[in-house]
Amino acid sequence: MDIPKAPKKSAAQVARAARLFKALQTRYPTAHCALNWSQPHELLIATILSAQSTDVGVNKATPALFAAFPTPRDFANASPAKIEPYVKTLNFWRNKAKAVHESMLTVCEQFHGEVPRDMKQLLTLRGVARKTANVVLGNAFNMQEGVVVDTHVGRLARRMGLSKHEDPVDVEADLMGLFPRADWCVLSHLFIAHGRDACKARGESCKSDLICKDFCSNAKAPTTRKSKAATSNKPVNLKLKKSKSLKPVATKSRRP
Ligand code: SF4
Repeated sequence: MDIPKAPKKSAAQVARAARLFKALQTRYPTAHCALNWSQPHELLIATILSAQSTDVGVNKATPALFAAFPTPRDFANASPAKIEPYVKTLNFWRNKAKAVHESMLTVCEQFHGEVPRDMKQLLTLRGVARKTANVVLGNAFNMQEGVVVDTHVGRLARRMGLSKHEDPVDVEADLMGLFPRADWCVLSHLFIAHGRDACKARGESCKSDLICKDFCSNAKAPTTRKSKAATSNKPVNLKLKKSKSLKPVATKSRRP
């Protein structure tokens, strides 16, 4: 899947995006991937499992799953039925068990048991679309191939006037045009952190939130609910939880 060319952004748009990035970084200095993993194939699997499920739910399921199947070959040698009991607490568990099994089978048969570091190759794996591939490339391999656009990122991008699109691929193209490549991976973590902290899916405008006031037109609209957003741009404690992963944290939002 090719990324459509984003319309050229003006210097003012790029400068505004840079100001937003700085404000988000100041507010969420520890923003990072919320899924627990210690090897690239684990991150790939956790991301496949996170579709329409909470990161908290995925992080509860994966320790036993990864212990039962420590390597891609172990997943490939198992049947989906053997994987199912470990993911039954998650939405669409049957399909996810199939996707985990088949993706690991392809990893073993086509890529010598290594998760490919290539967007096109990743997209050949069952259950992997651009969002999942971006998560893996950015977090496991530090490769900035694109921007992860989940529900939080898409919602914030629209509300903050960074994109008018609904399609995540079009939103991604807009964000790639606005932010420097080196920031693409952390950008999604920052948006997700703000989405979880201040801008809930049904959140109303947050008049007291400094980032919202500065960047979101909703902050100027009439509110119907009391805002719970922060009243300053002080760093937010994301309640980090140590685990075996490089950067683990448990959160409650759902992934698309
Ligand atoms: S003002 Fe409201 S809608 Fe806009 S980013 Fe803040 S929380 Fe979200």
